[in-house]
Amino acid sequence: MYENILRHPGPTPIPKKVQLAMSQDIFSHRSNEFVTLYRETMALVKPIFGTKQDILLLPSGGTAALEAAAVNTISAGEEVVVVTVGAFGDYFVSICERYGFHVHKLVKDWGEACTAEELRPFLQAHPQIKAVFITYNETSTGILNPIADLAKVVHEETEALVIVDGVSCLGGAPAEMDAWGIDIFVTGSQKALMLPPGLALVAVSDKAWQVIEKNQTPSYYLNLINYRSWAEKGMTPNTPAITLIYGLHEVCKLIEAEGGFAQTVARHELMKQMVRSAMKALHIELLTEDAYASPTITAILAPKDIDLAAFLAHLKNRYHLDFAGGLGHLQGKIFRFGHMGYCFPSDILQAVSLLEAALQDFNYTFEAGAGVLAAQQVFLAAQR
Ligand code: PLP
Repeated sequence: MYENILRHPGPTPIPKKVQLAMSQDIFSHRSNEFVTLYRETMALVKPIFGTKQDILLLPSGGTAALEAAAVNTISAGEEVVVVTVGAFGDYFVSICERYGFHVHKLVKDWGEACTAEELRPFLQAHPQIKAVFITYNETSTGILNPIADLAKVVHEETEALVIVDGVSCLGGAPAEMDAWGIDIFVTGSQKALMLPPGLALVAVSDKAWQVIEKNQTPSYYLNLINYRSWAEKGMTPNTPAITLIYGLHEVCKLIEAEGGFAQTVARHELMKQMVRSAMKALHIELLTEDAYASPTITAILAPKDIDLAAFLAHLKNRYHLDFAGGLGHLQGKIFRFGHMGYCFPSDILQAVSLLEAALQDFNYTFEAGAGVLAAQQVFLAAQR
């Protein structure tokens, strides 16, 4: 009878209105109806990226959008910098290496951000680079890299493109693509955008288009010039994920109804603070420091003396609360509390309360109610 309470960093719950929008009758992607849907959706989604550029829609997961960003801009043998602070930074490394780019890796320990002060000398040591690949929100650790500062340093020190993975935060984190000088910004549907997986969104700056137009690396399904020329007609080159585009249109309407994108971002910031305050009140350690904490996912260390795998299984089986475990070497050491998209302060209060119940079942020593109270106080303070 109980429904799973999905608090993962993607996929995430889908609002009923979005589900209903996606159940409409389908029409041809070469019809006038599609052109209207596509054009309206493209206009509505721009604030989420903070751009005036058209957003291209790929019928794919986020990884294909990362690959599109790489293959359309760089050729084998060219030098690039990849900033990696976790598992998804490593994705960018793998993609770039697979295409034979000459990769300079700036690697940080998992749980740390990369700062502009660290990036600057690294760039100075590699003046020939054509692009810098950076993960805005590192889903494996809950770090939000200071992307505006990083992009600024790249433009001060080099002619390189700034290519950013926004997969696990766009829709829930501040984004000013044009003002910050991001050249390619990509995201996927199944996280803060409250949709099922299967749709990737790619925004490209004028500077990046100039590079793409000269790039020689062959690509077919991921060829962005092809997507651009069809987008001008209000269409996509191949059969798109029409159902998901209906859904995206409805998501944009929900964001408008919340009071606009700034309000949505503020809600994510509030939920982040609620989660972090609750964990501190329960004396449960957080992986990241406050300054670079993600607004969409919080990585939390195993409560002291608790077998994490058993604890997470208990939370799911007894209380239907489903958190994600750690990735890579953090498996068994952290769990990840997703708080993005269709998630509200009331959901945080519910999750913290259930977490406390499970802690009691595991005989963890704490003051019962302390986590809920702390989260509630953050919530109340924001209402005043
Ligand atoms: N980048 C980040 C930051 C992610 O969190 C993910 C997925 O979790 C991806 C890329 C890959 O996206 P997908 O699984 O949709 O291919």
